[in-house]
Amino acid sequence: MTFRRGRGQATVGAVWHEAVLHLGGLARDLAAQRGTMRRGRGGFPRSLLELIQGGEGALALAREAWEYGRGLVDQQALDELARRKLAYPLKRVRLLAPIPAPGRNVFCLGRNYADHAAERGAAVPEHPVYFTKPATAVVGPGDPVVHHAVTRELDYEVELAAVIGRGGRDIERAQALGHVFGYTVINDVTARDLQKRHTQWFKGKSLDTFCPMGPVLVTADEIPDPQALAIALRVNGQVRQSSHTSKMIFPVAECIEVLSRAMTLLPGDIIATGTPDGVGAATGTFLKAGDRMEAEVERIGVLANKVVAP
Ligand code: MN
Repeated sequence: MTFRRGRGQATVGAVWHEAVLHLGGLARDLAAQRGTMRRGRGGFPRSLLELIQGGEGALALAREAWEYGRGLVDQQALDELARRKLAYPLKRVRLLAPIPAPGRNVFCLGRNYADHAAERGAAVPEHPVYFTKPATAVVGPGDPVVHHAVTRELDYEVELAAVIGRGGRDIERAQALGHVFGYTVINDVTARDLQKRHTQWFKGKSLDTFCPMGPVLVTADEIPDPQALAIALRVNGQVRQSSHTSKMIFPVAECIEVLSRAMTLLPGDIIATGTPDGVGAATGTFLKAGDRMEAEVERIGVLANKVVAP
């Protein structure tokens, strides 16, 4: 996860029971014990994006810090660990989007669930439909989603998102999941009227705050099959979307294979894999200020955001 404590800088953490392990602090502590202290952070990446870009070496440092931190949390009082900046109570930190400032646009799949294509009156596509959302639209768990005055048709879309670890071009389907660092949840917030008015989907999907992401990034080893996850979205506690990632038309591996054809994917690239049926546009039930959205994917968690007036 990416988290912030008080007014401190955003940093990389990992959840263990009710604690957040401060991986940079733990790595520094380990390095100091071994007398291998390097300047500053003991060589630990400053952000989750930097960690992903650091490849196997950075992930090994993170795993080592994680193992060390779990042992400390199991044996010592959390207050004392917090004083030493090694771990904090989960309730006392603020989670941010796992990658708060992506290096480029977020890639997205349109119409990747047959039930959703049908409810929108669209045909099931023969090839994956790609579009993007700008990095500037990203917000974190708990952040407000603004009901901008330019839209009267604000809508939600829960999606499983894959984050690329090892970049590459012409990635074959059989190898594609090996290029995934982990998975998170994205709410592909959409202004339906702008989506229609401007023909291409980009504008209606790209307003500020329209890309909530989180609450955490789950490493790929914990999700061996991304097509075996329940996916749901609730508005004010009422279930609006409830489906399963096995229903994707183009599974994650194929989305990566086709996207990477003659186009390089980079570490930290994010691919939102499309939404199931149940969007507001299907029934004309759009979001209004005060609504609370909860986007959930099994094994990852709940991404909650409230709609606020402009
Ligand atoms: Mn979408």
